[in-house]
Amino acid sequence: MFVDTHAHIQMPEFDADRDEALARAKAAGIGLMVTVGYHLEASRKAVETAQCYPQIYASVGVHPHDAKHYDDKAEETLRSLSKSQKVVAIGEAGLDFYRDRSPRTAQTEAFRRQIRLAKEFGLPLIVHDRDAHQETMRLLEEEQAEAVVLHCFSGDLALAEKAWARGYYTSIAGPVTYPKNEPLREVARKARLDRLVLETDCPYLPPQPVRGQRNEPGHLLHTAHEVARLLGMSLDELGRLTTENARRLFHLPSFE
Ligand SMILES: [Zn+2]
Repeated sequence: MFVDTHAHIQMPEFDADRDEALARAKAAGIGLMVTVGYHLEASRKAVETAQCYPQIYASVGVHPHDAKHYDDKAEETLRSLSKSQKVVAIGEAGLDFYRDRSPRTAQTEAFRRQIRLAKEFGLPLIVHDRDAHQETMRLLEEEQAEAVVLHCFSGDLALAEKAWARGYYTSIAGPVTYPKNEPLREVARKARLDRLVLETDCPYLPPQPVRGQRNEPGHLLHTAHEVARLLGMSLDELGRLTTENARRLFHLPSFE
Protein backbone atom coordinates (compact mmCIF):
# COMPACT_ATOMS: atom_id res chain seq x y z
CA MET A 1 0.00 0.00 0.00
CA PHE A 2 1.21 3.48 -0.89
CA VAL A 3 0.04 7.03 -0.28
CA ASP A 4 0.46 9.62 -3.05
CA THR A 5 1.14 12.58 -0.76
CA HIS A 6 0.96 15.20 -3.52
CA ALA A 7 -1.35 14.92 -6.51
CA HIS A 8 -3.54 17.38 -8.38
CA ILE A 9 -6.31 14.96 -9.30
CA GLN A 10 -8.86 17.82 -9.15
CA MET A 11 -7.30 19.43 -12.25
CA PRO A 12 -9.16 19.60 -15.58
CA GLU A 13 -6.48 17.26 -17.00
CA PHE A 14 -8.37 14.46 -15.21
CA ASP A 15 -11.94 15.51 -16.04
CA ALA A 16 -12.23 13.05 -18.93
CA ASP A 17 -11.04 9.94 -17.05
CA ARG A 18 -10.76 10.68 -13.31
CA ASP A 19 -12.60 7.52 -12.27
CA GLU A 20 -10.47 5.36 -14.56
CA ALA A 21 -7.24 6.97 -13.31
CA LEU A 22 -8.37 6.36 -9.71
CA ALA A 23 -9.21 2.74 -10.52
CA ARG A 24 -5.73 2.26 -12.01
CA ALA A 25 -4.24 3.85 -8.87
CA LYS A 26 -6.18 1.46 -6.67
CA ALA A 27 -5.05 -1.50 -8.77
CA ALA A 28 -1.45 -0.29 -8.37
CA GLY A 29 -1.84 -0.24 -4.58
CA ILE A 30 -2.18 3.52 -4.09
CA GLY A 31 -4.65 3.39 -1.22
CA LEU A 32 -4.84 7.08 -0.29
CA MET A 33 -3.85 10.36 -1.83
CA VAL A 34 -3.72 14.05 -0.98
CA THR A 35 -4.93 16.33 -3.74
CA VAL A 36 -3.29 19.72 -3.41
CA GLY A 37 -4.64 23.21 -4.04
CA TYR A 38 -2.46 25.90 -5.63
CA HIS A 39 -4.89 28.82 -5.76
CA LEU A 40 -8.33 29.45 -4.31
CA GLU A 41 -10.34 27.85 -7.09
CA ALA A 42 -8.06 24.80 -7.20
CA SER A 43 -8.31 24.55 -3.41
CA ARG A 44 -12.09 24.65 -3.56
CA LYS A 45 -12.02 21.94 -6.24
CA ALA A 46 -9.58 19.88 -4.17
CA VAL A 47 -12.06 19.88 -1.27
CA GLU A 48 -15.00 19.04 -3.54
CA THR A 49 -13.07 16.16 -5.12
CA ALA A 50 -12.04 14.83 -1.70
CA GLN A 51 -15.67 14.91 -0.62
CA CYS A 52 -16.58 12.67 -3.57
CA TYR A 53 -13.98 9.94 -2.99
CA PRO A 54 -13.19 8.25 0.34
CA GLN A 55 -9.53 7.64 -0.62
CA ILE A 56 -8.83 11.31 -1.42
CA TYR A 57 -7.86 13.99 1.11
CA ALA A 58 -7.30 17.65 0.32
CA SER A 59 -4.82 20.43 0.99
CA VAL A 60 -5.75 24.08 0.55
CA GLY A 61 -3.32 26.88 -0.20
CA VAL A 62 -1.88 29.43 -2.58
CA HIS A 63 1.19 28.58 -4.67
CA PRO A 64 3.96 31.20 -4.96
CA HIS A 65 2.94 31.74 -8.61
CA ASP A 66 -0.33 33.15 -7.30
CA ALA A 67 1.11 34.91 -4.25
CA LYS A 68 0.32 38.37 -5.66
CA HIS A 69 -3.37 37.52 -5.15
CA TYR A 70 -2.97 36.51 -1.52
CA ASP A 71 -4.83 39.01 0.64
CA ASP A 72 -7.16 39.02 3.66
CA LYS A 73 -10.06 37.86 1.53
CA ALA A 74 -8.03 34.95 0.12
CA GLU A 75 -7.04 33.96 3.64
CA GLU A 76 -10.69 34.03 4.71
CA THR A 77 -11.48 31.60 1.88
CA LEU A 78 -8.69 29.27 3.00
CA ARG A 79 -10.00 29.46 6.56
CA SER A 80 -13.48 28.49 5.54
CA LEU A 81 -12.28 25.68 3.23
CA SER A 82 -10.09 24.30 6.04
CA LYS A 83 -13.20 23.53 8.05
CA SER A 84 -13.90 20.53 5.81
CA GLN A 85 -13.19 17.19 7.50
CA LYS A 86 -11.21 16.11 4.42
CA VAL A 87 -8.63 18.93 4.62
CA VAL A 88 -5.39 17.52 6.05
CA ALA A 89 -2.85 20.24 5.16
CA ILE A 90 -2.19 23.83 4.14
CA GLY A 91 -0.37 24.33 0.85
CA GLU A 92 1.17 24.20 -1.48
CA ALA A 93 2.84 27.38 -0.35
CA GLY A 94 6.40 28.57 -0.63
CA LEU A 95 8.83 30.29 -2.94
CA ASP A 96 9.51 29.90 -6.65
CA PHE A 97 12.51 31.97 -7.71
CA TYR A 98 12.79 29.99 -10.95
CA ARG A 99 9.65 31.30 -12.62
CA ASP A 100 9.11 34.41 -10.45
CA ARG A 101 5.47 34.68 -11.53
CA SER A 102 4.73 36.82 -8.46
CA PRO A 103 7.09 39.45 -7.06
CA ARG A 104 9.40 37.96 -4.42
CA THR A 105 8.06 40.32 -1.75
CA ALA A 106 4.55 38.97 -2.41
CA GLN A 107 5.81 35.37 -2.37
CA THR A 108 7.50 35.94 0.98
CA GLU A 109 4.41 37.54 2.50
CA ALA A 110 2.02 34.82 1.27
CA PHE A 111 4.40 32.11 2.48
CA ARG A 112 4.75 33.66 5.95
CA ARG A 113 1.01 34.00 6.32
CA GLN A 114 0.36 30.40 5.28
CA ILE A 115 3.02 29.11 7.69
CA ARG A 116 1.11 30.94 10.45
CA LEU A 117 -2.21 29.60 9.21
CA ALA A 118 -0.95 26.00 9.28
CA LYS A 119 0.28 26.49 12.85
CA GLU A 120 -2.98 28.08 13.91
CA PHE A 121 -4.95 25.13 12.53
CA GLY A 122 -2.49 22.53 13.75
CA LEU A 123 -2.13 21.26 10.16
CA PRO A 124 1.05 20.29 8.33
CA LEU A 125 2.35 22.65 5.65
CA ILE A 126 3.13 21.45 2.11
CA VAL A 127 6.07 23.53 0.91
CA HIS A 128 6.96 24.33 -2.70
CA ASP A 129 10.59 25.44 -3.04
CA ARG A 130 12.09 26.00 -6.46
CA ASP A 131 15.52 27.61 -6.67
CA ALA A 132 14.89 29.22 -3.27
CA HIS A 133 16.35 26.70 -0.81
CA GLN A 134 18.11 29.05 1.59
CA GLU A 135 15.30 31.58 1.73
CA THR A 136 12.67 28.85 2.19
CA MET A 137 14.58 27.35 5.11
CA ARG A 138 15.14 30.79 6.62
CA LEU A 139 11.45 31.74 6.53
CA LEU A 140 10.37 28.36 7.95
CA GLU A 141 12.77 28.90 10.82
CA GLU A 142 11.81 32.53 11.45
CA GLU A 143 8.13 31.65 11.53
CA GLN A 144 8.85 28.57 13.64
CA ALA A 145 6.99 26.27 11.28
CA GLU A 146 5.96 23.02 12.92
CA ALA A 147 4.90 20.08 10.73
CA VAL A 148 6.46 20.58 7.30
CA VAL A 149 6.89 18.54 4.14
CA LEU A 150 9.23 19.76 1.42
CA HIS A 151 7.30 18.59 -1.63
CA CYS A 152 9.12 17.34 -4.73
CA PHE A 153 12.37 17.71 -2.86
CA SER A 154 14.98 19.21 -5.18
CA GLY A 155 17.85 20.12 -2.89
CA ASP A 156 21.06 18.25 -2.20
CA LEU A 157 21.92 15.94 0.69
CA ALA A 158 23.17 18.83 2.84
CA LEU A 159 19.82 20.58 2.57
CA ALA A 160 17.94 17.34 3.23
CA GLU A 161 19.98 16.73 6.36
CA LYS A 162 19.24 20.24 7.59
CA ALA A 163 15.52 19.62 6.96
CA TRP A 164 15.55 16.23 8.75
CA ALA A 165 17.39 17.76 11.71
CA ARG A 166 14.43 20.15 12.08
CA GLY A 167 11.97 17.27 11.81
CA TYR A 168 10.71 18.18 8.34
CA TYR A 169 9.59 15.49 5.91
CA THR A 170 11.05 15.23 2.42
CA SER A 171 8.83 14.02 -0.40
CA ILE A 172 10.42 12.25 -3.34
CA ALA A 173 8.77 12.54 -6.75
CA GLY A 174 9.32 11.15 -10.26
CA PRO A 175 12.58 13.04 -10.96
CA VAL A 176 14.41 10.44 -8.80
CA THR A 177 14.01 8.15 -11.85
CA TYR A 178 15.54 10.62 -14.34
CA PRO A 179 18.97 9.55 -15.63
CA LYS A 180 20.60 12.89 -14.85
CA ASN A 181 19.27 13.25 -11.31
CA GLU A 182 22.07 11.62 -9.33
CA PRO A 183 21.86 14.27 -6.55
CA LEU A 184 18.27 13.25 -5.76
CA ARG A 185 19.19 9.54 -5.79
CA GLU A 186 21.89 10.41 -3.25
CA VAL A 187 19.23 11.99 -1.01
CA ALA A 188 17.01 8.90 -1.37
CA ARG A 189 19.91 6.53 -0.56
CA LYS A 190 20.63 8.39 2.68
CA ALA A 191 17.02 9.28 3.49
CA ARG A 192 15.99 9.51 7.10
CA LEU A 193 13.53 6.66 7.14
CA ASP A 194 10.96 8.26 9.43
CA ARG A 195 10.86 11.45 7.33
CA LEU A 196 10.44 9.99 3.85
CA VAL A 197 7.22 10.20 1.83
CA LEU A 198 6.44 9.70 -1.86
CA GLU A 199 4.39 11.67 -4.37
CA THR A 200 3.57 11.96 -8.06
CA ASP A 201 2.78 15.71 -8.36
CA CYS A 202 0.53 14.49 -11.19
CA PRO A 203 -0.33 15.53 -13.86
CA TYR A 204 3.25 16.85 -13.80
CA LEU A 205 6.60 15.07 -13.49
CA PRO A 206 5.93 11.62 -14.99
CA PRO A 207 8.57 9.09 -13.95
CA GLN A 208 11.09 7.96 -16.57
CA PRO A 209 9.19 4.89 -17.91
CA VAL A 210 6.14 7.08 -18.71
CA ARG A 211 7.95 10.31 -19.50
CA GLY A 212 6.11 12.49 -21.98
CA GLN A 213 2.72 11.19 -20.82
CA ARG A 214 0.33 12.79 -18.36
CA ASN A 215 1.35 11.62 -14.91
CA GLU A 216 -1.26 9.99 -12.63
CA PRO A 217 -1.31 8.52 -9.09
CA GLY A 218 -0.80 4.93 -10.30
CA HIS A 219 2.59 5.93 -11.68
CA LEU A 220 3.79 6.38 -8.10
CA LEU A 221 4.91 2.76 -8.31
CA HIS A 222 7.74 3.64 -10.73
CA THR A 223 9.10 6.11 -8.19
CA ALA A 224 8.58 3.63 -5.36
CA HIS A 225 10.51 0.90 -7.23
CA GLU A 226 13.46 3.23 -7.69
CA VAL A 227 13.47 4.47 -4.08
CA ALA A 228 13.19 0.88 -2.77
CA ARG A 229 16.12 -0.12 -4.97
CA LEU A 230 18.21 2.83 -3.72
CA LEU A 231 17.44 1.99 -0.10
CA GLY A 232 18.00 -1.72 -0.64
CA MET A 233 14.59 -2.65 0.72
CA SER A 234 11.58 -4.47 -0.67
CA LEU A 235 8.67 -2.61 -2.22
CA ASP A 236 6.45 -3.89 0.60
CA GLU A 237 8.80 -2.62 3.23
CA LEU A 238 8.99 0.82 1.57
CA GLY A 239 5.20 0.87 1.27
CA ARG A 240 4.75 0.17 4.97
CA LEU A 241 7.33 2.73 5.98
CA THR A 242 6.21 5.61 3.76
CA THR A 243 2.53 4.95 4.46
CA GLU A 244 3.18 5.11 8.19
CA ASN A 245 5.08 8.38 7.68
CA ALA A 246 2.29 9.88 5.56
CA ARG A 247 -0.32 8.86 8.10
CA ARG A 248 1.68 10.44 10.92
CA LEU A 249 2.32 13.63 8.93
CA PHE A 250 -1.26 14.18 7.72
CA HIS A 251 -3.09 12.42 10.58
CA LEU A 252 -4.72 10.09 8.07
CA PRO A 253 -7.00 7.31 9.30
CA SER A 254 -5.82 3.75 8.87
CA PHE A 255 -6.86 1.65 5.90
CA GLU A 256 -9.97 -0.42 6.24
ZN1 LIG B 1 2.14 20.35 -6.96
